[in-house]
Amino acid sequence: MKIVMIPGDGIGPETMTVCSDVLTTISEKLDLHLELIHEIAGHDSLKKYGSTVTEQLLATVKAADGLILGPMATYDFKDETKGEINPSKFFRKKLDLYANIRPARTYPKVPTKMNPFDLVVVRENTEGFYADRNVESGNSEILVTPDVGISLRRITRECCIRIAKSAFELAMTRKKHVTLVHKANVLKITDGLFLDCCAEVAKSYPEVTVDDHIVDAMMAHVVRNPERFDTIVTTNMFGDILSDLTAELSGSLGLGGSLNAGDHYAMGQAAHGSAPDIAGQDIANPFSIITSASMLLNWLGQKYQQPNYLQAAKYIARATEQAIDALEVTRDIGGQLGTKATGDCFVRRLRTM
Ligand code: NAD
Repeated sequence: MKIVMIPGDGIGPETMTVCSDVLTTISEKLDLHLELIHEIAGHDSLKKYGSTVTEQLLATVKAADGLILGPMATYDFKDETKGEINPSKFFRKKLDLYANIRPARTYPKVPTKMNPFDLVVVRENTEGFYADRNVESGNSEILVTPDVGISLRRITRECCIRIAKSAFELAMTRKKHVTLVHKANVLKITDGLFLDCCAEVAKSYPEVTVDDHIVDAMMAHVVRNPERFDTIVTTNMFGDILSDLTAELSGSLGLGGSLNAGDHYAMGQAAHGSAPDIAGQDIANPFSIITSASMLLNWLGQKYQQPNYLQAAKYIARATEQAIDALEVTRDIGGQLGTKATGDCFVRRLRTM
């Protein structure tokens, strides 16, 4: 299968080099016959093609079986008319990658103040409080006068139903517990619709326990007792914020894996950003992108019923546990190694498993 690899900005090239080595190694080991296609987006593409992403790149991605997107310096990209398009939004919208799956779990050796936990945030990806996602043309953030701005949040039945289904399906493979996170006390129409849709979907999953929390209180609950939660489903912006929190509570944002999945395409993408504060220093944690790549292999294994792909995802997960246990990791999670050395150790470990 063909996988397009886009390193992205900041720490992206450092972590993506590790990710490529990991995929090449696991492909050789389990006969996955992966073909990695290296492309560019973000600042590199802006310099070379005048746009952070191109239609040609989209065609390449559509012709492939999966995409791994590195972190993008999205805050730098302010004006689409100058080619400054948010690549994350571009792929999520163009490929209709509506479900952003963001697992977070603790590891015994990683320093954290939390009780051990293992949860996953299922975040809607294609609408909500994201001005670049809500309208066919233009932007749903409006400058009314120089001193007055309006941001519109779109919530639709279709998107709520499909994200709820993703969450309940995932919960069935986990502890059969779904928590709905919302702000229906204030956003009565839109989050009311989200809750109604979740309740409708829940009827088809009678074994699943369902509860719900208002998003602000949820921040306290998840910091106090993250072990209470299993599968959390929420709208776009709340999921973005909550999943960074859960990744950091697990030990580091650099551990947070993330898969953006639709009915036809999927994109592995680290949960974190381009981290300009640590770029080029060989200290970025590569496990976020490694885990995201392994989630993509798992998605491909399920979609095309390829047991060796499912096996590859399991190998990578087990090797991750072992590497963290052996402290063959970067400093943010208690190790002493640089990004490259962490990757080299990981690849050696995978080969001998
Ligand atoms: P960030 O996620 O890049 O960094 C937040 C903090 O986490 C920083 O201290 C950083 O050093 C640390 N961190 C992040 N990844 C790490 C890793 N792998 N290992 C160790 N530490 C890590 O957030 P930011 O600094 O607010 O954003 C930087 C840029 O990234 C902005 O342009 C922002 O818009 C963009 N961004 C992109 C994405 C994406 O592409 N998916 C997501 C979030 C932010």
